[in-house]
Amino acid sequence: MPKLPVTEIFSSIQGEGPYVGVRQVFLRLPNCNLKCPYCDTGTSVPQQLRMETETGSGMFDTHENPVSFAKLIELLQSYDFSIHHSLSVTGGEPLLWSNQLRVLLPFLQEKGIKIYLETNGTMPEQLLQVLPWVDIISMDIKLPFDGQTFWAVHETFLRYSLQKEVFVKLVVHNQTDLNELRTARDLVAGVDPQIRTILQPVTAIHGIKAPEPYQLLNWQRFFLEKLADVRVIPQTHVFMGQL
Ligand code: SF4
Repeated sequence: MPKLPVTEIFSSIQGEGPYVGVRQVFLRLPNCNLKCPYCDTGTSVPQQLRMETETGSGMFDTHENPVSFAKLIELLQSYDFSIHHSLSVTGGEPLLWSNQLRVLLPFLQEKGIKIYLETNGTMPEQLLQVLPWVDIISMDIKLPFDGQTFWAVHETFLRYSLQKEVFVKLVVHNQTDLNELRTARDLVAGVDPQIRTILQPVTAIHGIKAPEPYQLLNWQRFFLEKLADVRVIPQTHVFMGQL
């Protein structure tokens, strides 16, 4: 029986992007292939999977980790999916587990569960492994950091994603470089100018500060010169105190 390491499972309110406010079950998987300077997520593999005992309680039960698929499906099915929009498969970078997900996701789809994939958009070949069972892709576009750029891999990823519903999300802060934003904007426009694009002001962390109001307004206008649907949406779960 295959197994999958899982960080945590809980029911909450989507706090980012165009689906902000919908109710989801979150399946958070460990590990990441990047080290973003503003990362707010622990990505190591925990010894035990934790699952909230009662939604919103902040109290967690623990289970063996890695978890068997049978147990994981049982845990996920304990939620009433008639009141949840979808299952958010998040991380870390969940596509690091594409070999396991391509076995797990068809089971979940059979149960009528819609899959919402939150990804950093840097693993296009792994995306192809799971794409048939994914309904919505929330793809980050990472601006360069630590001398790394992701433009080519992002473009490939975004082209593959067009087979499904996809939107892109860029985290911006008060030192964000306009030339990098131009490259990001032109990349999305070159794939499809109709792709919904979210500018997400960073939640201040590690000395990285949110953009000034005028910066957000200028950048949104700049993106709208080439893209049809550009929205500025902060991380709402943070100020609501949601998980
Ligand atoms: S891709 Fe996400 S989880 Fe990975 S380091 Fe960046 S912010 Fe953190």
